[in-house]
Amino acid sequence: MSVGIRGHLVHFPSDPSSGGSEAVQNFSDGVLIIESGRIAACGSYAALAERYQACDERYHYPDRFVLPGFVDTHTHFAQTDIIASPSPSLLHWLEHYTFPEEARFSDPNHGQVVAQFFIQELLRQGITTASVFATVHPESCEAIFQAANACAMRIIAGKVLMDQNAPDFLCDTAEGGIEAARALVERWHGRGRLRYSVTPRFIPTSSETQLRLAAALYHEIPDLHLQSHVAENEDEIAWVKRLYPKSRSYLQVYQDFGLLGPRATYAHCIWFDDDDRRLMAATQTAAAFCPTSNLFLGSGLFDLASARSHGLTVGLATDVGGGTSFSMLRTMQEAYKVAQLKGLTMTAEECFYLATLGGAKALGLDSMIGSFKPGKEADVIVINPEATALCSRRMQSTKTLSEQLFVTMMLGDERMIEQTHILGRPMQTIEPEGAAHAN
Ligand SMILES: [Zn+2]
Repeated sequence: MSVGIRGHLVHFPSDPSSGGSEAVQNFSDGVLIIESGRIAACGSYAALAERYQACDERYHYPDRFVLPGFVDTHTHFAQTDIIASPSPSLLHWLEHYTFPEEARFSDPNHGQVVAQFFIQELLRQGITTASVFATVHPESCEAIFQAANACAMRIIAGKVLMDQNAPDFLCDTAEGGIEAARALVERWHGRGRLRYSVTPRFIPTSSETQLRLAAALYHEIPDLHLQSHVAENEDEIAWVKRLYPKSRSYLQVYQDFGLLGPRATYAHCIWFDDDDRRLMAATQTAAAFCPTSNLFLGSGLFDLASARSHGLTVGLATDVGGGTSFSMLRTMQEAYKVAQLKGLTMTAEECFYLATLGGAKALGLDSMIGSFKPGKEADVIVINPEATALCSRRMQSTKTLSEQLFVTMMLGDERMIEQTHILGRPMQTIEPEGAAHAN
Protein backbone atom coordinates (compact mmCIF):
# COMPACT_ATOMS: atom_id res chain seq x y z
CA MET A 1 0.00 0.00 0.00
CA SER A 2 1.58 3.30 -1.12
CA VAL A 3 0.57 6.79 0.01
CA GLY A 4 1.63 10.10 -1.51
CA ILE A 5 1.49 13.34 0.47
CA ARG A 6 2.03 16.60 -1.43
CA GLY A 7 2.49 20.04 0.14
CA HIS A 8 5.16 22.43 1.44
CA LEU A 9 7.54 19.90 3.01
CA VAL A 10 9.79 21.14 5.82
CA HIS A 11 11.91 19.01 8.12
CA PHE A 12 15.06 19.34 10.19
CA PRO A 13 17.56 16.54 9.51
CA SER A 14 20.08 17.96 12.04
CA ASP A 15 20.25 20.53 14.84
CA PRO A 16 20.01 24.04 13.33
CA SER A 17 21.78 25.50 16.41
CA SER A 18 25.02 23.82 15.41
CA GLY A 19 24.78 25.31 11.94
CA GLY A 20 25.06 23.66 8.56
CA SER A 21 22.89 24.37 5.56
CA GLU A 22 21.56 20.81 5.73
CA ALA A 23 19.82 21.39 9.06
CA VAL A 24 16.64 22.53 7.28
CA GLN A 25 15.27 20.83 4.19
CA ASN A 26 12.41 22.51 2.40
CA PHE A 27 10.41 21.77 -0.77
CA SER A 28 7.75 24.42 -1.39
CA ASP A 29 5.93 21.97 -3.68
CA GLY A 30 7.17 18.67 -2.31
CA VAL A 31 6.11 15.08 -2.13
CA LEU A 32 6.50 12.26 0.35
CA ILE A 33 6.20 8.77 -1.05
CA ILE A 34 5.22 6.29 1.67
CA GLU A 35 5.41 2.53 1.23
CA SER A 36 3.98 0.25 3.93
CA GLY A 37 4.02 3.09 6.46
CA ARG A 38 7.63 4.14 5.86
CA ILE A 39 9.13 7.07 3.98
CA ALA A 40 10.31 5.79 0.60
CA ALA A 41 11.17 9.17 -0.93
CA CYS A 42 11.10 12.87 -0.06
CA GLY A 43 11.67 15.51 -2.72
CA SER A 44 10.17 18.04 -5.07
CA TYR A 45 6.95 17.38 -6.95
CA ALA A 46 8.84 17.98 -10.19
CA ALA A 47 11.16 15.10 -9.37
CA LEU A 48 8.55 12.73 -7.93
CA ALA A 49 5.37 13.53 -9.91
CA GLU A 50 5.25 10.16 -11.60
CA ARG A 51 5.69 8.19 -8.40
CA TYR A 52 3.14 10.41 -6.66
CA GLN A 53 0.55 9.81 -9.37
CA ALA A 54 1.12 6.06 -9.10
CA CYS A 55 0.40 5.96 -5.33
CA ASP A 56 -2.65 4.00 -4.15
CA GLU A 57 -3.74 7.01 -2.07
CA ARG A 58 -2.78 10.62 -2.65
CA TYR A 59 -3.27 13.61 -0.35
CA HIS A 60 -2.61 17.11 -1.68
CA TYR A 61 -2.31 19.99 0.78
CA PRO A 62 -1.66 23.17 -1.22
CA ASP A 63 -0.26 26.09 0.85
CA ARG A 64 0.16 23.91 3.91
CA PHE A 65 3.33 23.01 5.78
CA VAL A 66 3.91 19.27 5.92
CA LEU A 67 6.20 18.34 8.83
CA PRO A 68 7.24 15.26 10.78
CA GLY A 69 4.87 14.62 13.69
CA PHE A 70 5.66 16.31 16.99
CA VAL A 71 7.41 14.37 19.77
CA ASP A 72 6.40 15.11 23.37
CA THR A 73 9.21 13.79 25.56
CA HIS A 74 7.36 13.92 28.90
CA THR A 75 3.68 13.95 29.84
CA HIS A 76 1.18 12.39 32.28
CA PHE A 77 -2.04 11.10 30.72
CA ALA A 78 -3.66 10.66 34.14
CA GLN A 79 -3.35 14.40 34.78
CA THR A 80 -5.55 15.34 31.82
CA ASP A 81 -8.44 16.28 34.12
CA ILE A 82 -6.36 18.49 36.45
CA ILE A 83 -4.65 20.62 33.79
CA ALA A 84 -5.10 24.28 34.71
CA SER A 85 -5.49 23.82 38.49
CA PRO A 86 -3.91 26.69 40.42
CA SER A 87 -1.04 25.89 42.79
CA PRO A 88 1.84 27.80 44.35
CA SER A 89 4.43 25.05 43.80
CA LEU A 90 5.26 21.48 42.85
CA LEU A 91 4.82 19.73 46.22
CA HIS A 92 1.50 21.51 46.84
CA TRP A 93 0.41 20.54 43.33
CA LEU A 94 1.23 16.88 43.96
CA GLU A 95 -0.59 16.75 47.29
CA HIS A 96 -3.70 18.75 46.35
CA TYR A 97 -4.33 17.74 42.74
CA THR A 98 -2.10 14.98 41.41
CA PHE A 99 -2.42 12.36 44.12
CA PRO A 100 -6.22 12.64 44.56
CA GLU A 101 -6.70 12.57 40.77
CA GLU A 102 -4.36 9.64 40.21
CA ALA A 103 -6.27 7.65 42.84
CA ARG A 104 -9.25 7.55 40.43
CA PHE A 105 -7.20 5.32 38.11
CA SER A 106 -7.68 2.30 40.36
CA ASP A 107 -10.88 2.03 38.31
CA PRO A 108 -9.89 0.55 34.92
CA ASN A 109 -12.93 2.07 33.22
CA HIS A 110 -11.86 5.55 34.24
CA GLY A 111 -8.37 4.85 32.90
CA GLN A 112 -9.73 3.73 29.54
CA VAL A 113 -11.96 6.76 29.12
CA VAL A 114 -9.15 9.19 29.94
CA ALA A 115 -6.58 7.28 27.84
CA GLN A 116 -8.83 7.42 24.79
CA PHE A 117 -9.38 11.14 25.18
CA PHE A 118 -5.66 11.72 25.76
CA ILE A 119 -4.60 9.82 22.61
CA GLN A 120 -7.19 11.67 20.51
CA GLU A 121 -5.97 14.97 21.95
CA LEU A 122 -2.37 14.13 21.02
CA LEU A 123 -3.51 13.46 17.45
CA ARG A 124 -5.49 16.73 17.34
CA GLN A 125 -2.30 18.51 18.42
CA GLY A 126 -0.10 16.79 15.84
CA ILE A 127 1.78 14.84 18.53
CA THR A 128 2.55 11.44 17.06
CA THR A 129 4.98 10.17 19.71
CA ALA A 130 5.03 10.78 23.47
CA SER A 131 6.72 9.44 26.55
CA VAL A 132 3.88 9.00 29.01
CA PHE A 133 3.56 8.45 32.76
CA ALA A 134 0.61 6.28 33.76
CA THR A 135 -0.23 6.03 37.48
CA VAL A 136 0.87 3.47 40.06
CA HIS A 137 -1.99 1.20 38.88
CA PRO A 138 -0.94 -1.32 36.20
CA GLU A 139 -4.47 -1.01 34.72
CA SER A 140 -3.77 2.62 33.86
CA CYS A 141 -0.70 1.61 31.88
CA GLU A 142 -2.74 -1.07 30.10
CA ALA A 143 -5.27 1.60 29.20
CA ILE A 144 -2.78 3.97 27.59
CA PHE A 145 -1.06 1.16 25.67
CA GLN A 146 -4.41 -0.12 24.37
CA ALA A 147 -5.54 3.33 23.26
CA ALA A 148 -2.21 4.03 21.53
CA ASN A 149 -2.11 0.61 19.90
CA ALA A 150 -5.57 1.12 18.42
CA CYS A 151 -4.15 4.11 16.49
CA ALA A 152 -0.79 2.43 15.70
CA MET A 153 1.01 5.22 17.54
CA ARG A 154 4.61 5.06 18.69
CA ILE A 155 4.12 5.62 22.40
CA ILE A 156 6.45 4.98 25.33
CA ALA A 157 4.75 4.50 28.69
CA GLY A 158 5.26 3.07 32.13
CA LYS A 159 3.49 2.39 35.38
CA VAL A 160 4.65 4.77 38.11
CA LEU A 161 6.80 3.17 40.82
CA MET A 162 6.07 4.71 44.21
CA ASP A 163 6.37 2.85 47.51
CA GLN A 164 6.90 5.60 50.12
CA ASN A 165 6.20 9.23 50.99
CA ALA A 166 2.88 9.19 49.17
CA PRO A 167 -0.70 8.40 50.30
CA ASP A 168 -1.20 4.70 51.08
CA PHE A 169 -3.83 4.36 48.37
CA LEU A 170 -1.18 5.27 45.76
CA CYS A 171 1.70 3.15 46.98
CA ASP A 172 2.91 -0.14 45.57
CA THR A 173 5.65 -2.15 47.28
CA ALA A 174 9.29 -2.33 46.24
CA GLU A 175 9.03 -5.84 44.84
CA GLY A 176 5.35 -5.73 43.89
CA GLY A 177 5.80 -2.58 41.83
CA ILE A 178 8.67 -4.09 39.86
CA GLU A 179 6.77 -7.33 39.31
CA ALA A 180 3.84 -5.38 37.91
CA ALA A 181 6.22 -3.43 35.67
CA ARG A 182 7.82 -6.64 34.46
CA ALA A 183 4.42 -8.09 33.53
CA LEU A 184 3.65 -4.94 31.52
CA VAL A 185 7.05 -5.18 29.79
CA GLU A 186 6.30 -8.74 28.74
CA ARG A 187 2.87 -7.82 27.47
CA TRP A 188 3.60 -4.52 25.71
CA HIS A 189 7.29 -3.74 25.17
CA GLY A 190 7.99 -4.07 21.45
CA ARG A 191 4.37 -4.90 20.62
CA GLY A 192 3.34 -2.85 17.57
CA ARG A 193 5.06 0.50 17.99
CA LEU A 194 4.91 0.52 21.79
CA ARG A 195 7.81 0.65 24.23
CA TYR A 196 7.96 0.32 27.98
CA SER A 197 9.64 2.86 30.23
CA VAL A 198 10.70 2.10 33.80
CA THR A 199 9.01 4.97 35.67
CA PRO A 200 10.08 5.84 39.23
CA ARG A 201 8.14 9.07 39.95
CA PHE A 202 11.12 10.76 41.63
CA ILE A 203 13.64 10.01 44.35
CA PRO A 204 11.52 10.82 47.45
CA THR A 205 8.67 8.43 46.57
CA SER A 206 10.71 5.28 46.00
CA SER A 207 12.58 3.29 48.65
CA GLU A 208 16.24 2.41 48.13
CA THR A 209 15.19 -1.17 47.39
CA GLN A 210 12.71 -0.07 44.75
CA LEU A 211 15.26 2.23 43.09
CA ARG A 212 17.79 -0.60 42.95
CA LEU A 213 15.24 -3.02 41.49
CA ALA A 214 14.12 -0.40 38.95
CA ALA A 215 17.71 0.03 37.76
CA ALA A 216 18.15 -3.74 37.51
CA LEU A 217 15.04 -4.04 35.31
CA TYR A 218 16.16 -1.13 33.08
CA HIS A 219 19.57 -2.74 32.50
CA GLU A 220 18.26 -6.28 32.13
CA ILE A 221 15.95 -5.90 29.14
CA PRO A 222 17.29 -4.57 25.84
CA ASP A 223 15.88 -1.27 24.59
CA LEU A 224 13.87 -0.59 27.73
CA HIS A 225 13.39 3.12 28.44
CA LEU A 226 13.45 4.97 31.74
CA GLN A 227 11.69 8.21 32.71
CA SER A 228 11.65 10.30 35.86
CA HIS A 229 11.91 13.85 37.23
CA VAL A 230 14.96 15.70 38.55
CA ALA A 231 15.91 19.13 39.91
CA GLU A 232 12.53 20.76 39.25
CA ASN A 233 11.86 22.74 42.38
CA GLU A 234 13.97 23.96 45.30
CA ASP A 235 11.78 22.42 48.04
CA GLU A 236 11.97 19.08 46.24
CA ILE A 237 15.77 19.35 46.03
CA ALA A 238 15.98 20.13 49.76
CA TRP A 239 13.85 17.04 50.45
CA VAL A 240 16.23 14.83 48.43
CA LYS A 241 19.16 16.41 50.29
CA ARG A 242 17.59 15.39 53.62
CA LEU A 243 17.09 11.84 52.34
CA TYR A 244 20.60 11.53 50.85
CA PRO A 245 22.77 14.05 52.73
CA LYS A 246 26.03 12.57 51.48
CA SER A 247 25.15 12.76 47.80
CA ARG A 248 26.87 15.47 45.72
CA SER A 249 23.60 16.39 43.99
CA TYR A 250 20.07 15.23 43.30
CA LEU A 251 21.14 13.85 39.91
CA GLN A 252 24.01 12.01 41.56
CA VAL A 253 21.50 9.99 43.62
CA TYR A 254 20.02 8.62 40.38
CA GLN A 255 23.51 7.85 39.10
CA ASP A 256 24.44 6.04 42.31
CA PHE A 257 21.43 3.75 41.90
CA GLY A 258 22.29 3.07 38.24
CA LEU A 259 19.31 4.99 36.87
CA LEU A 260 21.07 7.12 34.24
CA GLY A 261 21.91 5.93 30.73
CA PRO A 262 20.81 5.66 27.10
CA ARG A 263 17.01 5.95 26.54
CA ALA A 264 16.64 7.50 30.01
CA THR A 265 14.82 10.85 29.94
CA TYR A 266 14.60 13.19 32.92
CA ALA A 267 12.06 15.98 33.06
CA HIS A 268 13.01 19.52 34.12
CA CYS A 269 16.79 19.48 34.89
CA ILE A 270 16.50 23.11 35.98
CA TRP A 271 18.66 23.34 39.11
CA PHE A 272 21.78 21.72 37.66
CA ASP A 273 25.41 22.72 37.96
CA ASP A 274 28.00 21.97 35.29
CA ASP A 275 28.98 18.69 36.98
CA ASP A 276 25.38 17.53 36.64
CA ARG A 277 25.32 18.53 32.97
CA ARG A 278 28.58 16.65 32.37
CA LEU A 279 27.13 13.59 34.11
CA MET A 280 24.01 13.71 31.92
CA ALA A 281 26.12 13.95 28.76
CA ALA A 282 28.61 11.27 29.85
CA THR A 283 25.84 8.80 30.61
CA GLN A 284 23.84 9.72 27.43
CA THR A 285 20.87 10.65 29.59
CA ALA A 286 18.45 13.12 27.97
CA ALA A 287 16.64 16.15 29.38
CA ALA A 288 12.96 16.94 28.77
CA PHE A 289 12.53 20.73 28.72
CA CYS A 290 9.02 21.51 30.06
CA PRO A 291 8.60 25.28 29.73
CA THR A 292 4.85 25.70 30.34
CA SER A 293 5.02 23.52 33.45
CA ASN A 294 8.14 25.24 34.79
CA LEU A 295 6.57 28.68 34.37
CA PHE A 296 3.15 27.62 35.68
CA LEU A 297 4.48 26.02 38.89
CA GLY A 298 7.12 28.75 39.26
CA SER A 299 9.82 26.09 39.27
CA GLY A 300 12.53 27.95 37.37
CA LEU A 301 14.11 28.50 33.96
CA PHE A 302 15.82 25.68 32.07
CA ASP A 303 19.25 26.73 30.79
CA LEU A 304 19.29 25.49 27.19
CA ALA A 305 22.55 27.25 26.29
CA SER A 306 24.44 25.50 29.10
CA ALA A 307 22.79 22.20 28.26
CA ARG A 308 23.97 22.55 24.67
CA SER A 309 27.49 23.61 25.58
CA HIS A 310 27.84 20.46 27.70
CA GLY A 311 26.53 18.22 24.94
CA LEU A 312 23.21 17.28 26.55
CA THR A 313 20.47 15.82 24.40
CA VAL A 314 17.33 17.90 24.92
CA GLY A 315 13.74 17.36 23.82
CA LEU A 316 10.64 19.48 24.38
CA ALA A 317 7.79 18.36 26.61
CA THR A 318 4.30 19.49 27.57
CA ASP A 319 4.38 17.89 31.05
CA VAL A 320 0.58 17.85 31.12
CA GLY A 321 -1.05 18.49 33.66
CA GLY A 322 1.64 20.63 35.41
CA GLY A 323 2.13 21.96 31.90
CA THR A 324 -0.70 24.20 30.76
CA SER A 325 -1.17 23.03 27.18
CA PHE A 326 -1.17 19.90 25.03
CA SER A 327 -0.02 22.06 22.11
CA MET A 328 3.59 21.67 21.04
CA LEU A 329 3.33 25.02 19.22
CA ARG A 330 2.41 26.70 22.52
CA THR A 331 5.17 24.74 24.23
CA MET A 332 7.64 26.05 21.63
CA GLN A 333 6.46 29.62 22.30
CA GLU A 334 7.18 29.25 25.99
CA ALA A 335 10.51 27.52 25.34
CA TYR A 336 11.48 30.50 23.22
CA LYS A 337 10.56 32.91 26.05
CA VAL A 338 12.38 30.89 28.73
CA ALA A 339 15.49 30.88 26.53
CA GLN A 340 15.14 34.66 26.11
CA LEU A 341 15.17 35.09 29.89
CA LYS A 342 18.35 33.00 30.03
CA GLY A 343 20.04 35.16 27.38
CA LEU A 344 19.55 32.85 24.39
CA THR A 345 17.52 33.90 21.35
CA MET A 346 16.31 30.84 19.48
CA THR A 347 15.25 30.64 15.86
CA ALA A 348 11.98 29.01 14.86
CA GLU A 349 14.00 26.28 13.13
CA GLU A 350 15.72 25.44 16.43
CA CYS A 351 12.36 25.19 18.20
CA PHE A 352 10.81 23.00 15.49
CA TYR A 353 13.90 20.78 15.61
CA LEU A 354 13.48 20.33 19.40
CA ALA A 355 9.83 19.39 18.84
CA THR A 356 10.63 16.80 16.13
CA LEU A 357 14.01 15.12 15.60
CA GLY A 358 15.47 16.59 18.82
CA GLY A 359 12.69 14.93 20.80
CA ALA A 360 13.15 11.68 18.90
CA LYS A 361 16.86 11.75 19.80
CA ALA A 362 16.05 12.44 23.46
CA LEU A 363 13.87 9.33 23.50
CA GLY A 364 16.40 7.20 21.59
CA LEU A 365 13.96 6.84 18.67
CA ASP A 366 15.74 8.97 16.06
CA SER A 367 16.51 6.01 13.82
CA MET A 368 12.73 5.47 13.49
CA ILE A 369 11.00 8.87 13.60
CA GLY A 370 11.56 12.64 13.69
CA SER A 371 12.44 13.47 10.08
CA PHE A 372 11.61 12.51 6.50
CA LYS A 373 14.72 10.42 5.98
CA PRO A 374 13.84 7.42 3.77
CA GLY A 375 13.27 4.29 5.85
CA LYS A 376 11.74 6.15 8.79
CA GLU A 377 8.16 5.67 9.91
CA ALA A 378 5.82 8.10 8.18
CA ASP A 379 4.23 10.10 11.00
CA VAL A 380 3.36 13.37 9.29
CA ILE A 381 1.42 16.49 10.22
CA VAL A 382 -0.22 19.14 8.10
CA ILE A 383 -0.09 22.72 9.41
CA ASN A 384 -2.26 25.51 8.04
CA PRO A 385 -0.24 28.65 8.80
CA GLU A 386 -3.25 30.81 7.96
CA ALA A 387 -5.74 29.05 10.22
CA THR A 388 -6.81 32.24 12.01
CA ALA A 389 -7.59 35.72 10.75
CA LEU A 390 -4.56 37.17 12.53
CA CYS A 391 -2.17 34.47 11.29
CA SER A 392 -3.46 34.88 7.76
CA ARG A 393 -2.97 38.64 7.91
CA ARG A 394 0.47 38.39 9.51
CA MET A 395 1.62 35.80 6.94
CA GLN A 396 1.01 38.32 4.14
CA SER A 397 3.96 40.40 5.32
CA THR A 398 6.45 37.54 5.70
CA LYS A 399 9.19 37.18 3.13
CA THR A 400 11.17 34.11 4.13
CA LEU A 401 10.49 30.59 5.31
CA SER A 402 12.19 31.47 8.60
CA GLU A 403 9.71 34.28 9.20
CA GLN A 404 6.78 32.04 8.28
CA LEU A 405 7.92 29.35 10.69
CA PHE A 406 8.43 31.94 13.41
CA VAL A 407 4.92 33.35 13.00
CA THR A 408 3.51 29.81 12.88
CA MET A 409 5.27 29.00 16.14
CA MET A 410 4.52 32.23 18.04
CA LEU A 411 0.86 32.56 17.02
CA GLY A 412 0.12 28.88 16.61
CA ASP A 413 -1.99 26.39 18.49
CA GLU A 414 -4.12 23.35 17.69
CA ARG A 415 -6.25 25.36 15.25
CA MET A 416 -3.30 25.17 12.86
CA ILE A 417 -3.04 21.37 12.92
CA GLU A 418 -5.15 20.40 9.96
CA GLN A 419 -4.33 16.71 9.74
CA THR A 420 -2.18 14.07 11.44
CA HIS A 421 -1.03 11.03 9.45
CA ILE A 422 0.14 7.95 11.36
CA LEU A 423 2.27 5.62 9.22
CA GLY A 424 0.97 7.59 6.24
CA ARG A 425 -2.74 7.18 7.03
CA PRO A 426 -4.83 10.26 7.91
CA MET A 427 -6.39 10.13 11.36
CA GLN A 428 -9.38 12.28 10.49
CA THR A 429 -11.61 11.15 7.71
CA ILE A 430 -10.69 12.80 4.45
CA GLU A 431 -11.14 11.55 0.93
CA PRO A 432 -7.87 10.85 -0.87
CA GLU A 433 -7.29 12.82 -4.04
CA GLY A 434 -9.14 11.29 -6.97
CA ALA A 435 -11.14 8.92 -4.77
CA ALA A 436 -14.41 10.43 -5.99
CA HIS A 437 -13.63 9.05 -9.45
CA ALA A 438 -12.46 5.65 -8.25
CA ASN A 439 -15.74 3.89 -8.92
ZN1 LIG B 1 6.16 15.30 34.98
